[in-house]
Amino acid sequence: AKDALTETVCFYEVSMDEAARSRRLIANDLWQAVERRELQLHYQVQKAVNSGETLGYEVLLRWHHPVRGTIPPSEFIPIAEACGAILPIGEWVLREACREAATWGNDYKIAVNLSPVQLGNADVADLVHRVLLETGLSPRRLELEITESTIIGDKERALNTLRRIKAFGVTIAIDDFGTGYSSLETLRAFPFDKIKLDRSFMSEVEASPEAKAIIRAILALGQTLRVPVLAEGVETRSQLDILLDEGCDEAQGYFLGRPVPVERIRVDTEKSEAA
Ligand code: C2E
Ligand code: CA
Ligand code: CA
Ligand code: CA
Repeated sequence: AKDALTETVCFYEVSMDEAARSRRLIANDLWQAVERRELQLHYQVQKAVNSGETLGYEVLLRWHHPVRGTIPPSEFIPIAEACGAILPIGEWVLREACREAATWGNDYKIAVNLSPVQLGNADVADLVHRVLLETGLSPRRLELEITESTIIGDKERALNTLRRIKAFGVTIAIDDFGTGYSSLETLRAFPFDKIKLDRSFMSEVEASPEAKAIIRAILALGQTLRVPVLAEGVETRSQLDILLDEGCDEAQGYFLGRPVPVERIRVDTEKSEAA
Protein backbone atom coordinates (compact mmCIF):
# COMPACT_ATOMS: atom_id res chain seq x y z
CA ALA A 1 0.00 0.00 0.00
CA LYS A 2 2.91 2.28 0.83
CA ASP A 3 4.46 1.67 -2.57
CA ALA A 4 1.20 2.46 -4.29
CA LEU A 5 0.95 5.69 -2.35
CA THR A 6 4.52 6.71 -3.16
CA GLU A 7 3.87 5.94 -6.77
CA THR A 8 0.74 8.07 -6.76
CA VAL A 9 2.54 10.97 -5.12
CA CYS A 10 5.46 10.74 -7.57
CA PHE A 11 3.14 10.46 -10.50
CA TYR A 12 1.28 13.52 -9.27
CA GLU A 13 4.48 15.53 -8.95
CA VAL A 14 5.75 14.42 -12.31
CA SER A 15 2.48 15.33 -13.95
CA MET A 16 2.48 18.79 -12.34
CA ASP A 17 5.97 19.25 -13.62
CA GLU A 18 4.90 17.98 -17.01
CA ALA A 19 2.01 20.42 -17.07
CA ALA A 20 4.30 23.36 -16.34
CA ARG A 21 6.80 22.17 -18.93
CA SER A 22 4.06 21.70 -21.46
CA ARG A 23 2.78 25.25 -20.81
CA ARG A 24 6.27 26.63 -21.40
CA LEU A 25 6.65 24.72 -24.64
CA ILE A 26 3.23 25.83 -25.82
CA ALA A 27 4.07 29.44 -24.96
CA ASN A 28 7.24 29.22 -27.07
CA ASP A 29 5.41 27.75 -30.03
CA LEU A 30 2.60 30.29 -29.72
CA TRP A 31 4.92 33.19 -30.46
CA GLN A 32 5.66 31.63 -33.83
CA ALA A 33 2.22 30.31 -34.63
CA VAL A 34 1.17 33.37 -36.64
CA GLU A 35 4.29 33.39 -38.81
CA ARG A 36 4.12 29.67 -39.35
CA ARG A 37 0.51 30.02 -40.47
CA GLU A 38 -0.72 27.51 -37.93
CA LEU A 39 -3.68 29.62 -36.86
CA GLN A 40 -7.05 29.39 -38.54
CA LEU A 41 -10.39 31.08 -38.03
CA HIS A 42 -13.65 29.22 -37.81
CA TYR A 43 -16.95 31.01 -38.32
CA GLN A 44 -20.15 30.35 -36.39
CA VAL A 45 -23.43 31.80 -37.55
CA GLN A 46 -25.59 34.12 -35.42
CA LYS A 47 -29.29 34.26 -36.34
CA ALA A 48 -32.45 36.19 -35.54
CA VAL A 49 -34.71 33.88 -33.50
CA ASN A 50 -38.06 34.86 -35.03
CA SER A 51 -37.12 35.14 -38.72
CA GLY A 52 -34.22 32.69 -38.83
CA GLU A 53 -32.32 35.33 -40.77
CA THR A 54 -28.52 35.29 -40.62
CA LEU A 55 -27.17 38.37 -38.84
CA GLY A 56 -23.50 37.59 -38.81
CA TYR A 57 -20.71 35.26 -37.73
CA GLU A 58 -18.52 34.94 -34.65
CA VAL A 59 -14.91 34.08 -35.39
CA LEU A 60 -13.34 31.38 -33.24
CA LEU A 61 -9.63 30.73 -33.27
CA ARG A 62 -8.11 27.30 -34.03
CA TRP A 63 -4.48 26.33 -33.61
CA HIS A 64 -3.12 23.44 -35.64
CA HIS A 65 0.11 22.57 -33.87
CA PRO A 66 2.53 20.66 -36.12
CA VAL A 67 3.23 18.02 -33.46
CA ARG A 68 0.41 18.19 -30.94
CA GLY A 69 -2.40 18.49 -33.46
CA THR A 70 -5.30 20.86 -32.95
CA ILE A 71 -5.19 22.52 -29.54
CA PRO A 72 -8.49 23.99 -28.29
CA PRO A 73 -8.64 27.72 -27.47
CA SER A 74 -9.64 26.93 -23.88
CA GLU A 75 -6.11 25.51 -23.52
CA PHE A 76 -3.96 27.94 -25.45
CA ILE A 77 -5.73 31.30 -25.01
CA PRO A 78 -4.97 31.45 -21.25
CA ILE A 79 -1.33 30.64 -22.01
CA ALA A 80 -1.24 33.26 -24.77
CA GLU A 81 -2.67 35.79 -22.33
CA ALA A 82 -0.16 34.92 -19.64
CA CYS A 83 2.87 35.15 -21.95
CA GLY A 84 1.69 38.14 -23.98
CA ALA A 85 1.47 36.29 -27.31
CA ILE A 86 -2.26 37.15 -27.30
CA LEU A 87 -1.32 40.63 -28.57
CA PRO A 88 0.14 39.60 -31.96
CA ILE A 89 -2.35 36.72 -32.16
CA GLY A 90 -5.32 38.96 -31.36
CA GLU A 91 -4.13 41.46 -33.95
CA TRP A 92 -3.93 38.70 -36.54
CA VAL A 93 -7.45 37.50 -35.69
CA LEU A 94 -8.90 41.00 -35.97
CA ARG A 95 -7.21 41.78 -39.27
CA GLU A 96 -8.02 38.41 -40.81
CA ALA A 97 -11.68 38.56 -39.73
CA CYS A 98 -12.18 42.12 -40.99
CA ARG A 99 -10.41 41.38 -44.26
CA GLU A 100 -12.65 38.37 -44.84
CA ALA A 101 -15.90 40.14 -43.91
CA ALA A 102 -15.02 43.07 -46.19
CA THR A 103 -15.20 40.69 -49.19
CA TRP A 104 -18.75 39.55 -48.41
CA GLY A 105 -21.57 40.66 -50.64
CA ASN A 106 -23.89 41.53 -47.77
CA ASP A 107 -23.91 43.44 -44.50
CA TYR A 108 -23.43 40.53 -42.10
CA LYS A 109 -21.64 41.45 -38.91
CA ILE A 110 -18.39 39.88 -37.84
CA ALA A 111 -17.97 39.29 -34.10
CA VAL A 112 -14.42 39.10 -32.73
CA ASN A 113 -13.44 38.09 -29.19
CA LEU A 114 -11.30 40.62 -27.39
CA SER A 115 -9.06 39.39 -24.57
CA PRO A 116 -8.73 41.34 -21.28
CA VAL A 117 -5.02 41.61 -22.06
CA GLN A 118 -5.83 43.35 -25.34
CA LEU A 119 -8.28 45.70 -23.67
CA GLY A 120 -5.69 46.50 -21.01
CA ASN A 121 -3.32 47.51 -23.76
CA ALA A 122 -3.49 51.21 -24.53
CA ASP A 123 -3.16 50.74 -28.28
CA VAL A 124 -6.13 48.52 -28.95
CA ALA A 125 -8.44 51.36 -30.03
CA ASP A 126 -5.77 52.55 -32.50
CA LEU A 127 -5.38 49.01 -33.75
CA VAL A 128 -9.12 48.68 -34.39
CA HIS A 129 -9.11 52.01 -36.21
CA ARG A 130 -6.10 51.03 -38.34
CA VAL A 131 -7.53 47.63 -39.26
CA LEU A 132 -10.86 49.18 -40.30
CA LEU A 133 -9.04 51.64 -42.56
CA GLU A 134 -6.77 48.96 -43.98
CA THR A 135 -9.53 46.49 -44.77
CA GLY A 136 -12.22 49.00 -45.70
CA LEU A 137 -14.75 47.19 -43.49
CA SER A 138 -17.60 49.42 -42.37
CA PRO A 139 -17.20 49.93 -38.60
CA ARG A 140 -20.82 49.06 -37.94
CA ARG A 141 -20.20 45.57 -39.27
CA LEU A 142 -17.62 44.87 -36.56
CA GLU A 143 -18.69 43.70 -33.12
CA LEU A 144 -16.21 43.07 -30.31
CA GLU A 145 -17.13 40.49 -27.67
CA ILE A 146 -15.78 41.03 -24.21
CA THR A 147 -16.45 39.09 -21.01
CA GLU A 148 -17.10 40.72 -17.68
CA SER A 149 -13.77 39.51 -16.40
CA THR A 150 -12.25 41.69 -19.10
CA ILE A 151 -13.17 44.76 -17.15
CA ILE A 152 -12.60 43.86 -13.53
CA GLY A 153 -9.08 45.26 -13.87
CA ASP A 154 -8.65 48.97 -14.49
CA LYS A 155 -12.27 49.97 -15.10
CA GLU A 156 -11.67 53.59 -15.98
CA ARG A 157 -9.13 52.67 -18.58
CA ALA A 158 -11.25 49.90 -20.04
CA LEU A 159 -14.22 52.26 -20.18
CA ASN A 160 -12.20 54.90 -22.00
CA THR A 161 -10.93 52.41 -24.54
CA LEU A 162 -14.43 51.04 -25.14
CA ARG A 163 -15.82 54.56 -25.60
CA ARG A 164 -13.14 55.33 -28.19
CA ILE A 165 -13.88 52.11 -30.06
CA LYS A 166 -17.62 52.76 -29.96
CA ALA A 167 -17.07 56.24 -31.32
CA PHE A 168 -15.90 54.63 -34.59
CA GLY A 169 -19.32 52.94 -34.86
CA VAL A 170 -18.07 49.51 -33.74
CA THR A 171 -20.47 47.69 -31.39
CA ILE A 172 -19.65 45.88 -28.14
CA ALA A 173 -21.26 42.66 -26.90
CA ILE A 174 -20.94 41.39 -23.35
CA ASP A 175 -19.99 37.71 -23.60
CA ASP A 176 -20.86 34.82 -21.25
CA PHE A 177 -23.36 37.05 -19.46
CA GLY A 178 -24.68 35.75 -16.15
CA THR A 179 -21.53 33.96 -15.07
CA GLY A 180 -19.53 36.91 -13.74
CA TYR A 181 -19.54 38.50 -10.33
CA SER A 182 -21.13 41.85 -10.97
CA SER A 183 -23.34 41.48 -14.00
CA LEU A 184 -25.77 44.25 -13.14
CA GLU A 185 -23.14 46.75 -12.13
CA THR A 186 -21.22 45.99 -15.32
CA LEU A 187 -24.33 46.55 -17.41
CA ARG A 188 -25.02 49.85 -15.72
CA ALA A 189 -21.51 51.21 -16.12
CA PHE A 190 -20.56 49.99 -19.58
CA PRO A 191 -21.95 50.96 -22.95
CA PHE A 192 -22.95 47.53 -24.29
CA ASP A 193 -24.86 46.98 -27.51
CA LYS A 194 -25.69 43.30 -26.98
CA ILE A 195 -25.97 40.77 -24.17
CA LYS A 196 -24.74 37.25 -24.91
CA LEU A 197 -26.38 34.89 -22.46
CA ASP A 198 -23.91 32.25 -21.32
CA ARG A 199 -24.54 28.81 -22.76
CA SER A 200 -24.86 27.21 -19.31
CA PHE A 201 -28.40 28.64 -19.16
CA MET A 202 -29.37 26.95 -22.42
CA SER A 203 -28.06 23.57 -21.37
CA GLU A 204 -30.27 23.74 -18.25
CA VAL A 205 -33.32 25.52 -19.58
CA GLU A 206 -35.44 22.41 -20.04
CA ALA A 207 -34.54 20.70 -16.77
CA SER A 208 -34.33 23.69 -14.48
CA PRO A 209 -37.18 26.14 -13.83
CA GLU A 210 -34.60 28.39 -12.17
CA ALA A 211 -32.51 28.59 -15.34
CA LYS A 212 -35.63 29.45 -17.30
CA ALA A 213 -36.61 32.13 -14.77
CA ILE A 214 -33.16 33.68 -15.02
CA ILE A 215 -33.32 33.69 -18.82
CA ARG A 216 -36.71 35.44 -18.57
CA ALA A 217 -35.32 38.02 -16.18
CA ILE A 218 -32.32 38.74 -18.43
CA LEU A 219 -34.60 39.08 -21.47
CA ALA A 220 -36.72 41.57 -19.53
CA LEU A 221 -33.58 43.43 -18.54
CA GLY A 222 -32.47 43.56 -22.17
CA GLN A 223 -35.85 44.95 -23.16
CA THR A 224 -35.77 47.63 -20.48
CA LEU A 225 -32.26 48.67 -21.45
CA ARG A 226 -33.14 48.33 -25.16
CA VAL A 227 -30.21 45.96 -25.68
CA PRO A 228 -30.79 42.80 -27.76
CA VAL A 229 -30.07 39.45 -26.11
CA LEU A 230 -28.35 36.57 -27.92
CA ALA A 231 -28.62 33.08 -26.43
CA GLU A 232 -25.44 31.01 -26.80
CA GLY A 233 -25.19 27.24 -26.99
CA VAL A 234 -28.52 26.43 -28.67
CA GLU A 235 -28.19 22.74 -29.47
CA THR A 236 -31.77 21.59 -30.12
CA ARG A 237 -34.97 22.60 -31.86
CA SER A 238 -36.84 22.58 -28.54
CA GLN A 239 -34.36 25.03 -27.00
CA LEU A 240 -34.87 27.32 -29.98
CA ASP A 241 -38.66 27.02 -29.55
CA ILE A 242 -38.35 28.12 -25.93
CA LEU A 243 -36.35 31.16 -27.03
CA LEU A 244 -39.02 31.99 -29.59
CA ASP A 245 -41.73 31.73 -26.89
CA GLU A 246 -39.75 33.89 -24.51
CA GLY A 247 -39.04 36.56 -27.12
CA CYS A 248 -35.26 36.19 -27.27
CA ASP A 249 -33.77 38.26 -30.12
CA GLU A 250 -30.83 36.23 -31.39
CA ALA A 251 -29.29 32.78 -31.09
CA GLN A 252 -26.10 30.90 -31.79
CA GLY A 253 -25.22 27.24 -31.30
CA TYR A 254 -24.68 23.85 -32.88
CA PHE A 255 -28.37 23.57 -33.83
CA LEU A 256 -28.05 26.67 -36.02
CA GLY A 257 -24.53 25.97 -37.20
CA ARG A 258 -21.22 24.70 -35.89
CA PRO A 259 -18.06 26.77 -36.16
CA VAL A 260 -16.65 25.97 -39.64
CA PRO A 261 -13.72 27.05 -41.83
CA VAL A 262 -14.37 29.99 -44.11
CA GLU A 263 -14.84 27.85 -47.24
CA ARG A 264 -17.95 26.35 -45.68
CA ILE A 265 -19.73 29.69 -45.34
CA ARG A 266 -18.76 31.07 -48.76
CA VAL A 267 -22.10 30.11 -50.36
CA ASP A 268 -23.78 32.27 -47.77
CA THR A 269 -21.44 35.22 -48.05
CA GLU A 270 -20.30 35.41 -51.66
CA LYS A 271 -21.30 38.37 -53.79
CA SER A 272 -24.46 37.67 -55.68
CA GLU A 273 -23.79 37.54 -59.43
CA ALA A 274 -27.46 37.94 -60.27
CA ALA A 275 -28.35 41.25 -61.90
P1 C2E B 1 -16.80 31.94 -26.42
O1 C2E B 1 -16.41 33.28 -26.93
O2 C2E B 1 -17.87 31.87 -25.39
O3 C2E B 1 -17.17 31.10 -27.72
C1 C2E B 1 -18.19 30.15 -27.77
C2 C2E B 1 -17.67 28.75 -27.56
O4 C2E B 1 -18.78 27.86 -27.48
C3 C2E B 1 -16.83 28.26 -28.72
O5 C2E B 1 -15.86 27.37 -28.20
C4 C2E B 1 -17.85 27.48 -29.57
O6 C2E B 1 -17.26 26.51 -30.40
C5 C2E B 1 -18.68 26.85 -28.48
N1 C2E B 1 -20.04 26.57 -28.92
C6 C2E B 1 -20.76 27.19 -29.88
N2 C2E B 1 -22.01 26.66 -29.97
C7 C2E B 1 -22.07 25.68 -29.05
C8 C2E B 1 -23.11 24.74 -28.68
O7 C2E B 1 -24.23 24.73 -29.20
N3 C2E B 1 -22.80 23.88 -27.67
C9 C2E B 1 -21.59 23.86 -27.06
N4 C2E B 1 -21.39 22.97 -26.11
N5 C2E B 1 -20.59 24.72 -27.39
C10 C2E B 1 -20.84 25.62 -28.38
P2 C2E B 1 -14.34 27.44 -28.67
O8 C2E B 1 -14.29 27.72 -30.15
O9 C2E B 1 -13.68 26.21 -28.16
O10 C2E B 1 -13.79 28.72 -27.93
C11 C2E B 1 -13.71 28.73 -26.53
C12 C2E B 1 -13.39 30.09 -26.00
O11 C2E B 1 -12.07 30.51 -26.42
C13 C2E B 1 -14.32 31.18 -26.53
O12 C2E B 1 -15.51 31.18 -25.80
C14 C2E B 1 -13.48 32.42 -26.29
O13 C2E B 1 -13.57 32.82 -24.94
C15 C2E B 1 -12.07 31.89 -26.55
N6 C2E B 1 -11.67 32.29 -27.91
C16 C2E B 1 -11.91 31.68 -29.10
N7 C2E B 1 -11.38 32.37 -30.14
C17 C2E B 1 -10.81 33.47 -29.58
C18 C2E B 1 -10.10 34.62 -30.11
O14 C2E B 1 -9.91 34.79 -31.34
N8 C2E B 1 -9.63 35.54 -29.21
C19 C2E B 1 -9.85 35.41 -27.87
N9 C2E B 1 -9.35 36.37 -27.04
N10 C2E B 1 -10.52 34.38 -27.33
C20 C2E B 1 -11.00 33.42 -28.18
CA1 CA C 1 -17.44 34.99 -27.70
CA1 CA D 1 -19.64 33.12 -24.93
CA1 CA E 1 -16.88 31.39 -22.95
